[in-house]
Amino acid sequence: MRISSIDNRYHVIAGDTAVDIAEASNGRFAPEGFDIYERWTELADWVSTLPADVYHPFGPARVGAPVAMPRQVFAIGLNYRDHAAESNLPEPDAPLVFTKFPTCITGPNAAVTLPSGNVDWEVELVAVIGKRADRAAEDHGWDYVAGLTVGQDLSERKVQLAGPAPQFGLGKSFPGFGPIGPAVVTLDEIPDPGNLAIGCSLGDEVLQKGNTSDLIFAVPELIARISAICPLLPGDVIFTGTPAGVGAARTPQRFLPRDATLVSYVEGLGELRNPLV
Ligand code: ZN
Repeated sequence: MRISSIDNRYHVIAGDTAVDIAEASNGRFAPEGFDIYERWTELADWVSTLPADVYHPFGPARVGAPVAMPRQVFAIGLNYRDHAAESNLPEPDAPLVFTKFPTCITGPNAAVTLPSGNVDWEVELVAVIGKRADRAAEDHGWDYVAGLTVGQDLSERKVQLAGPAPQFGLGKSFPGFGPIGPAVVTLDEIPDPGNLAIGCSLGDEVLQKGNTSDLIFAVPELIARISAICPLLPGDVIFTGTPAGVGAARTPQRFLPRDATLVSYVEGLGELRNPLV
């Protein structure tokens, strides 16, 4: 099952066709907000009964973030071995968790205004929560996941690293710094979440090219470790970290230019196409 938000209403996606969930269910499910994530299993059961002739074509430009304003946005630092290595930092022995404030979330095709010339790219696999998790066991970590999507953890490096100790939250939370989408893809459509190609590019230039097999802490362990402290709520998102190839780790350092489009993908989940302005 693939769920997208089109014109601010949740839709089930099949190829280039979609069904408006609230309309087709006669209001049983709400068109926006957390309702579908609170009742994810019930939604999946209902979707499985939908006839093929209720799907209609839609345009990609109308697709927004699959969760417009999550209650909590978690993100993980240094969670790929190759990214820890390029950062000249040791691999962490526990997840490094920070937040992106929820107002930074935007859609998969949204234009992003660069506030400065120091904005870096970080393509990420993003987990969307579909069931409240409070001190969840790692063995059952996937039970709390509605599905996976693609994200960009855009980062203003000067703000992030200003001061005597880095403060990740603000530098990663300018408006538009958290594009996610285009769809929440359920696990039955993903053969192996631990072996997905992931990357991003600007025009013809590949910026990052990795694989989720390089993750240090996989999604079930992240759910266990985070929910040991903070209960996870339906619709929450977890940016799981970025592979090697970020601009700040290069010599000389590189940052995003205006008037280009940043394309980010995870195998089987689709892509983000964000114009930079
Ligand atoms: Zn990141």
